Amino acid sequence: MEIQAPKGTKDILPQDAYKWQYVEGILREVSKAFGVREIRTPIFEHTELFLRGVGETTDIVQKEMYTFKDKGDRSITLKPEGTAPSVRAFIENRLFNEAQPTKLYYIIPCFRYENVQKGRLRQFHQYGIEMFGSKEPSMDAEVISLAMEALKRLGLKSLSLNINNLGCPKCRPKYNEALKSYLQENYDDLCDVCKTRFEKNPMRILDCKEKSCNKITKNAPIILDYICDECNDHFTEVKKYLDALNIKYKIDPGIVRGLDYYTKTIFEILNEDFTVCGGGRYDKLIEEIGGPEMPAVGFGMGLERLIMTLEQEGIEIPNEGYIDLYIGSRGDKAKMEAFILAKKLRELGIKTEINHMGRSVKAEMKYANKIGALYTTILGDDELENNTLKLKRMSDGEQFEASLNNIESIKNVLK
Ligand code: ATP
Ligand code: MG
Repeated sequence: MEIQAPKGTKDILPQDAYKWQYVEGILREVSKAFGVREIRTPIFEHTELFLRGVGETTDIVQKEMYTFKDKGDRSITLKPEGTAPSVRAFIENRLFNEAQPTKLYYIIPCFRYENVQKGRLRQFHQYGIEMFGSKEPSMDAEVISLAMEALKRLGLKSLSLNINNLGCPKCRPKYNEALKSYLQENYDDLCDVCKTRFEKNPMRILDCKEKSCNKITKNAPIILDYICDECNDHFTEVKKYLDALNIKYKIDPGIVRGLDYYTKTIFEILNEDFTVCGGGRYDKLIEEIGGPEMPAVGFGMGLERLIMTLEQEGIEIPNEGYIDLYIGSRGDKAKMEAFILAKKLRELGIKTEINHMGRSVKAEMKYANKIGALYTTILGDDELENNTLKLKRMSDGEQFEASLNNIESIKNVLK
């Protein structure tokens, strides 16, 4: 029996890898433009980190984590998201003692045991941003503008930005009471998971994906009517900064987001089918995970969904050919020369391939054509004797001469 990849995982094959490299390249560039530096944390962490950092009443913790005991009987979890690990590393490595703010990005695989469907995998990838140390609304706006700039550089135009404000520990209890008294009437119709959320974290019910719960929460009271003056002022300022950059947004009082740690600003960037990017402010998380009191804001962007959107919009991703020159050969002596020549050309940055399949010259040329080699040449006794090389440009068949013992003359043709 053939072994298949686990459900909800995907191979990225060589013929598609260029798309990922291109997208990741742009994301790294945008990060740099904003003075954001990369952090790399382990693929797995102690389960405890996500219980504390993501929140016990979230879908992730309640249903989706890949958790197992290692041979030392420790409970280990594969990263379901990148924020809690970044915060853990920030605290453990005492980065809070350095000049603030700390601006981090990562490109990581994430693991969630989900119902697999279009745009919903069990191993997926995220580009994430975390900015620690600033409570200023300009920081929220900078994080949002970074996400928008990334999408713009990728050529995406159809995505829309929704923002909301979730309040803070000062104003949220009042809202939770209002929400609970509203939900109380329909308690029996809530799904089983939401029943457990009712006491601990009723807001989480607003984010439930069950239809029966959606029906109940449709007319629930909204948080924006309950936020305190401080949260309200913060929201007004964030909007001002976004306006200053001409970033278009819609206020959507219905968005809650799937993680417990958010305070104040939250946002989502979506297309017609799904959310590509979600993020917000999480001023209590660093403290929650054992660090100093320190505000923070960030986002996670799903790369599979991002690439799907690029394809849906028909945006062409540049695909640079992977071979500049294919060197065919006739006979053992010529093959050895081709082998040595390839090494020298590669040292000059010319992507070169030779025949390792013992094919006929005709079959070699067919192969070179198939892989999209820009130039081909064939080495045989004549070429070795005369020290010449005929380079054929594959796009139009034009031939160019170069000298076999003058690498520069070959390079000059190819450039
Ligand atoms: P959703 O509501 O779609 O489940 P989420 O709130 O769980 O999303 P986040 O935890 O905020 O998502 O993750 C940020 C981004 O990561 C999402 O906006 C999405 O693009 C991507 N993402 C999340 N879960 C998956 C998944 N299972 N497969 C593919 N991409 C995902
Ligand atoms: Mg989810």
